[in-house]
Order: sequence, then structure tokens, then C-alpha cells
Amino acid sequence: MLPVIEGSDAPCRVCHQVHRGLTRILGTSAPDAWLAVSEGERLEAELTPDVCILPHQGVTRHFIRGHIQLPVVEPEPDVFVWSVWVEVDEESMATIARTWSDPNRAAMAPLSGRLATELPYEQPTRGLQITIYTRDPGMAPLLMLSSGSGHTLGAEQRNGVSLHRIAEFSELVRR
Ligand SMILES: [Zn+2]
Repeated sequence: MLPVIEGSDAPCRVCHQVHRGLTRILGTSAPDAWLAVSEGERLEAELTPDVCILPHQGVTRHFIRGHIQLPVVEPEPDVFVWSVWVEVDEESMATIARTWSDPNRAAMAPLSGRLATELPYEQPTRGLQITIYTRDPGMAPLLMLSSGSGHTLGAEQRNGVSLHRIAEFSELVRR
């Protein structure tokens, strides 16, 4: 997957600018909860590009990183990715750890969790119910919002987004 979305030379119908070379993947390198704990608690924790184990106030929280894909509907079929963190229970984390290097891991049953990253939407995204689909080793899991969430993010995942909207994401994340 290319790091940028090529875009189009045709002026945007919304803002009349030309959207080219848009950032394909935006997201965070740690769950929001990681940023909220003290330095001392981080020493007890574990953070890799894919997994975070965070002991906090007597409980251990488990997070994995995954991709929410939004199809780009025009002008060319393409895909934008939110790289985000999902909180899972201990049992799910054990399953993920056990099957991490399994070449057939994409065949395992989906898991569920809750979104642990706040994204720049009008409604909060943290806490949204997520279904986690493991993919082949080397690929981040695919994350799907349930269709009943009533959230803009869910609608964008189902219906797709325009190049203008992707340009907007980069602006919103920079704020
Ligand atoms: Zn535009």
C-alpha cells in the first residue's frame, strides 16, 4: 500500500483546490490511556508498535493496534486508514499472543473490543464497540465498527469518503 493517496488533478467540487498526494495513514503510536499515566507507571508497562500492556491502579489493561479502513469513493477506488488502538480483555490478548506467528491466524474467529483512541470527529470515538479481524502475519488487524453505532466514523467506513474529507483529516489531526 502506497504511503500516499495519489488524488486527482481535477479541482475539488467542495473547495475547488486540487487534492494530490494525501496522507494515507493517520493515527497514534500509543493508546490514549498510555499518554494519561505517569512516567513511573510507564516503566511497569509494555509498549510495542502493535501491543500495549498497561498496569494502572491495580488493573492491567490490554490494547492492540489495528486499522480502520475508509474506502475512497472518488475519483479512483482507494482506501484511507486510521491506525488506532483497541482495548481488549485479558483472554482476547492471550489468544492474540498465542496466534501471533501462526501463518493461519487470519482464519481465527473475530474478537471484540473498544476503541481506545480519540479521533477528530464531532462525537467521541473512544469506547466505540469494535470487531477485530486478524489478518495474515505482518498485517495489522482490520477493525470494524458495528453498523448500529450511529457514528459518523461507522457511516464513513460503510459508505466511503471523498478526497476532500481525507485532506480535512490531515488538517484536523494537526490541530
Ligand atoms: Zn476539497
